[in-house]
Amino acid sequence: MNSTDTTAGLTVWAEIDLDALEHNIRTLRARAAQSQLMAVVKADAYGHGLLPVARAAVRAGADWLGVAQLAEACALRDAGVTTRLLAWLSVPGSDFSGAVRRDIDLSASAPWTLDAIAAAAREQGRSARVHLKVDTGLGRGGAHGPDWPALVVHARRLEAEGAISVVGVWTHFAMADAPEHPTVLAQQDTFFEAVALAERAGVRPEVRHLANSAATLVHPDAHADLVRPGIAIYGLSPVPQVDDDFGLRPVMTLRARLALVKRWPAGRGISYGHVYAPESDTVVGLVPAGYADGIPREATNVGPVRVGDLSTTVAGRVCMDQFVVDLGPGSDAVAGDVVTLFGSPSEGPTAQDWADATDTISYEIVARIGARVPRLWSGGSDQGAGA
Ligand SMILES: *Cc1c(COP(=O)(O)O)cnc(C)c1O
Repeated sequence: MNSTDTTAGLTVWAEIDLDALEHNIRTLRARAAQSQLMAVVKADAYGHGLLPVARAAVRAGADWLGVAQLAEACALRDAGVTTRLLAWLSVPGSDFSGAVRRDIDLSASAPWTLDAIAAAAREQGRSARVHLKVDTGLGRGGAHGPDWPALVVHARRLEAEGAISVVGVWTHFAMADAPEHPTVLAQQDTFFEAVALAERAGVRPEVRHLANSAATLVHPDAHADLVRPGIAIYGLSPVPQVDDDFGLRPVMTLRARLALVKRWPAGRGISYGHVYAPESDTVVGLVPAGYADGIPREATNVGPVRVGDLSTTVAGRVCMDQFVVDLGPGSDAVAGDVVTLFGSPSEGPTAQDWADATDTISYEIVARIGARVPRLWSGGSDQGAGA
């Protein structure tokens, strides 16, 4: 696709390369060849667009899709996605009936969740598929300590009645991104003990799963029956301190178009608060993207951008809708020129560079891109555009 055609008149946009996404899914499948793969598409596919990403992931061989909220799972089903689907975050009053009716697998960390799922299943005269979650040390979701055997017993009662079927046992790592950390092996051991306890109680899980992207890439022992990569399918490394891109390709490229170019004198402040002033006379450009679009305000004076051959940074405060860049005294940039905020390393800064500059992780950089920013999807094997 020629992006200059489809982006005419756009202020800021995110190009989503579905060929790269499919490549990443195939790469991860090859790394965990003995396991099934669940593509995690929560939070609008980490900002990349739920449906196009889900469909591309399935085309590239994802066996499962995973989301946090029940509403995200329902949206997939209502759009015609029939792939096996797990949703793991609910509260009392969540739409369990809607989820069971749509054939969505549900997670439970507490007896109340099992009861709510069972009630929805009885109401519809069917059995609901449940994954029991154990907290092996993350200290977040999951049943911990003596709550685990109690959850298992509770689940077995509902299973005997026919209201639910326990198809999965699962957990989540605290520090899989620190490959040598002792908690990784400790959590793994605790997990397989918890699985054994459930099996002794009569649970017959189809899938035991614990590996996020980091574990999928660096802890083959944790692959188990199913891996659940999220960030890696978007081509970003969960272990940026490791000097290896694992053959992954970034999927999102965020670009904007200069809205104004003007000369600016030495010493005069730029943008709210005047926290930047050029040392010599220069040329500045106005980039029409701001914190309402997900550009972190913390990128003030540090967010990296590329304009043509020039690598520069945000100059002054990031505002709600716009920020300024210092293009240098000799700049021949004009309004309308394309600015690349992040994307592939070959083209300019990466989402990881933005994360480093603003003291966060690449996950947050892509997931926070706002709803106002149009996503332009290209490639993907169903469009015949892939190469
Ligand atoms: C988000 C999430 C994942 C994916 O994590 P990544 O680090 O993006 O691979 C997997 N499992 C659960 C439970 C999650 O919440």
